[in-house]
Amino acid sequence: MVSTSLHDVVAQQIERLSLKKFQWLVFPAQLEQRFERDTCGYRSARLWIEGLVAIVLFNVLLLANHLLIPSVSWRAVLLRSAIVTPVSLLVNIGMLFNPSRVYRESSIAFASCVICFTHLYLERGGSAIAPTFAQVGVIVTVLFATVVMRLQFFYALWASLVMMAGDVVYVLTDSLLVPEEKVFGLSLTMCAVAITMMANYSLGREERLGYLLRLRGEMDGAVLALDNEELQRISNLDALTGIANRHAFEREFHHLWNAAIETQSPLSAVLIDVDHFKKLNDVSGHLYGDKVLKRVATLLTQALRSKDDFAARFGGEEFVVLLPGTGPAGSLLLAERIRKLVEVAGSPVVETANTDAMSVWTTVSCGVATVWPTQSSSKEQLLNSADQALYQAKSNGRNSVCCCDMALVGDEQ
Ligand code: GH3
Ligand code: MG
Ligand code: MG
Repeated sequence: MVSTSLHDVVAQQIERLSLKKFQWLVFPAQLEQRFERDTCGYRSARLWIEGLVAIVLFNVLLLANHLLIPSVSWRAVLLRSAIVTPVSLLVNIGMLFNPSRVYRESSIAFASCVICFTHLYLERGGSAIAPTFAQVGVIVTVLFATVVMRLQFFYALWASLVMMAGDVVYVLTDSLLVPEEKVFGLSLTMCAVAITMMANYSLGREERLGYLLRLRGEMDGAVLALDNEELQRISNLDALTGIANRHAFEREFHHLWNAAIETQSPLSAVLIDVDHFKKLNDVSGHLYGDKVLKRVATLLTQALRSKDDFAARFGGEEFVVLLPGTGPAGSLLLAERIRKLVEVAGSPVVETANTDAMSVWTTVSCGVATVWPTQSSSKEQLLNSADQALYQAKSNGRNSVCCCDMALVGDEQ
């Protein structure tokens, strides 16, 4: 079942995130859990790929390090390839195990900071241009973590601030930069952090809004499918008696007929008609007549022996039962059971002072026919035979069962 309250929460959150002002990127607890559950697999897989790219690029910079400051290239090899790369790889491999949100986001944020600090450390004091590369390195790392890997907002924020703090320490303690250059360098990093955090927020908001719209679409789809199923069910039922209607009968008849041809087994039909129903309506009223029809329908379904037997309202005060795999003897027995059940229990209590009504007693007549269908036989043939048998049962005095114009079973009225 689709939860309506979840639907409401989703609608509220869509409305909230569609507003033009700042909104926190957190859903109410239950929805937040669902969001994490639904998106974590894809997110971990994406972070694994992007992490690999980041690690490769990080090692490619070895060459740049060597060209820039040849004197520290051994240190760069040791730090980049022997320490930071294995640590980052270890963090990255964790993504393959679809870890919890806290582990996933904080380990990636941590690895980004380690990469950033390594970069700052290696660019330290080597040449006059080194601080510029250091600044660019910080900005690129912040950009990668917040916009490419799209760390979730709060993790992106603390990772950016930590990297920024590292940059501040680097710039302030650098002996080659003049104060104006330090201010410019720090302003540049600050601008980069502010811009990338804005981009990170927008991407996070879009992602959440997209998720909510998808979720609402899925829920609406599920409700629609349920509605369709219910409509389908209702359209196959007779409104008064609640058993299958003529439309459902035609479909089932077609299905059972073809199945009987395929399995070369018999198919029997029993037509059941309430006796003197017009009179019953006249004497006891139309509403009472309806009650009788409902009662007969209930008794019919009770009389069926297997789930393959099928009962429907054929029209007016007539019903039909289809009995797959049942020959004349079995179907005569069932028709007789129906006749007896109606005779005993087919008359609901009369709630009227009309004494004539008390004298009306519900009975039915049944016409039975059996056929072993082949490709050349027609379905109408079976119903016509059952109808002829019913006519015979009526002619024989009603409250009786007749199999074509053969055996008569039952009492006469
Ligand atoms: P017979 O014993 O020969 O079958 O006679 P009958 O009176 O039962 O048959 P007839 O065809 O003359 O009358 C059928 C009546 O059934 C007429 C119609 O008003 C009534 N009827 C048909 N559908 C409904 C229904 O949904 N509710 C009620 N109360 N009566 C219905
Ligand atoms: Mg009739
Ligand atoms: Mg009748």
